[in-house]
Amino acid sequence: MLKRTHNCGQLRLEDAGKKVTLAGWVHSYRDHGNLVFIDLRDKQGLTQLVFNPETQPEAHKLARTARHEWVIAAKGIIQPRGEGLENPKLPTGQIEVFVQQLEILNVSKTPPFEFDSAEKTSEELRLASRYIDLRRPEMQQKLRTRHRVTKITRDYFDRLGFLEIETPMLAKSTPEGARDFLVPSRLHKNCFYALPQSPQLFKQILMVSGVDKYFQIVRCFRDEDPRADRQAEFTQIDVEMSFVDSNDVIGVHENLLAKIWKQILDVDVTAPMRRISYKEAMDDYGTDRPDLRFDMKLKDISDIAKTSTFKVFTSVIEKGGIVKGLCAPGGGERYSRSDIEKTLTEFVGDYGAKGLAWSKVKQENDKFSFVGGLAKFFSTEQISRIIERFDVKDGDLLLFVADSEKNANKALAPLRCKLARDLKLYEKEAFEFVWIVDFPLFEWNEDAKRYDSLHHPFTAPVPEDLDKLDSDPANIRSQAYDIVVNGSEIGGGSIRIHDPKVQRKVFELLKISKEQAQQRFGFFLKALEYGAPPHGGIALGLDRIIMMLTGTENIRDVIAFPKTQRGQCLLTDAPSEVDQKQLDELNLRTQRHSHIIEQKTEEKKQ
Ligand code: ASP
Repeated sequence: MLKRTHNCGQLRLEDAGKKVTLAGWVHSYRDHGNLVFIDLRDKQGLTQLVFNPETQPEAHKLARTARHEWVIAAKGIIQPRGEGLENPKLPTGQIEVFVQQLEILNVSKTPPFEFDSAEKTSEELRLASRYIDLRRPEMQQKLRTRHRVTKITRDYFDRLGFLEIETPMLAKSTPEGARDFLVPSRLHKNCFYALPQSPQLFKQILMVSGVDKYFQIVRCFRDEDPRADRQAEFTQIDVEMSFVDSNDVIGVHENLLAKIWKQILDVDVTAPMRRISYKEAMDDYGTDRPDLRFDMKLKDISDIAKTSTFKVFTSVIEKGGIVKGLCAPGGGERYSRSDIEKTLTEFVGDYGAKGLAWSKVKQENDKFSFVGGLAKFFSTEQISRIIERFDVKDGDLLLFVADSEKNANKALAPLRCKLARDLKLYEKEAFEFVWIVDFPLFEWNEDAKRYDSLHHPFTAPVPEDLDKLDSDPANIRSQAYDIVVNGSEIGGGSIRIHDPKVQRKVFELLKISKEQAQQRFGFFLKALEYGAPPHGGIALGLDRIIMMLTGTENIRDVIAFPKTQRGQCLLTDAPSEVDQKQLDELNLRTQRHSHIIEQKTEEKKQ
């Protein structure tokens, strides 16, 4: 077999005259009657091969048989392409290899989709033949970026004295609160392992074990309905540290993120990064994942709206709701009345809003007025107070939702992002990082009539709020933090409770009974009793970070072998049915089998 001497992205004009051997896949071929050209591809790039029937008849004859994705090796001499024949789009575009010897290493069936139109091919087809899809340079680039990010991360933590420690995959249910994937135990009939939703309790136990600084690039499993940016099986950069406060954890991770962004994209991210409280995020942006590439803050105008003559506003406020809205710069010119009353109103409707009130703003000399929509319901004085609150300019568009605070935020937060996109209020390549801090510890769950943890039940309250555990749980702040980039949450963590008494109290408020706590987390509560140091940590979503860095909105693009939206691996056809023997060994019976058995018994009876 011909042994390659170089890769397909490497050769340049200054290499002319060198004898080389390249190996790879036939990307394309052109048969010009006498000369045959093949673009040869490997993971590094493309190089043009040329075959001449006069000087190398054998190689030329063989080259004419080659087809897309055949695997070949070619030996020859590098020559300049000649005037006017260069391809400036290719790094190797100034040269070609004049082939003297060709070896066909393997043939290929016709690929199920054309390489160059892969983006337009159905994703199902690409996933089913993932080995072909991954050959594409864009996909190779994503694999490379992912590798580099994990390498930077491992080197970074290693230098800081962290240990990477693996924790079990066959585990017990963990506290993230999503649905578990269960694995039946053969040796312990009727018992199940749960695949870890995160290594949360193990990493805390590692702190009790004196490890001090732990990290792990780890697979986590949550049996939730997949979304565009979520997979049932995903990867976290999981970290835990002892004797730290939230500033320490935040500091270590903003430096890591700055390093990754610098090394991968050559983008300077300033650390320390901005921090805003949960309350500020909800008030100003309607979400705890604000996109700060643009401003466009939400404002509550209930105090003004309640004095207007607009019934919708006044009645919502009377019922304890609010009127909240935003000012879209230049929106008055960009959107027609029907755009607002149809497109934008339908948009907020999808997020549960019952309507969208609006007015365009006109300025004449120093005088502002409302045009259309709400204009007739507000006095000049009320209008000028609104103008002042939003810092409105001529040609802007004011939009309002009247509802409960929660519902108004739910509709306005995505509306804010849509408007910014439509109005091109930010640069796509910009990155705005922000830490969200001062989360409430609990959220009231009206249906279950109890508190839920906003983060998870092991998150510590801020020390000053500890005395509210009995008197005022709703107003306890937690020591949790989330890191958000361009409106996407890429990580979150907290300082943990290390005092078993506080931990028990929190369980009580979450209505987790002593027995339940014992059954689910008993092993962990016991560990806390044996000298647990103060500790805290975080998990960063590796897949989402790679999505950001490679500019894709599809999580499947950054995972070599992903699952579809319906949790299937189209390459291997998982999940699939298993043999009856396997089920028997596990002492399991599926409903389908139960059905067959019932049928058979029925038949026997007859
Ligand atoms: N285990 C948490 C999660 O996966 C992260 C953390 O608190 O460290 O969301």
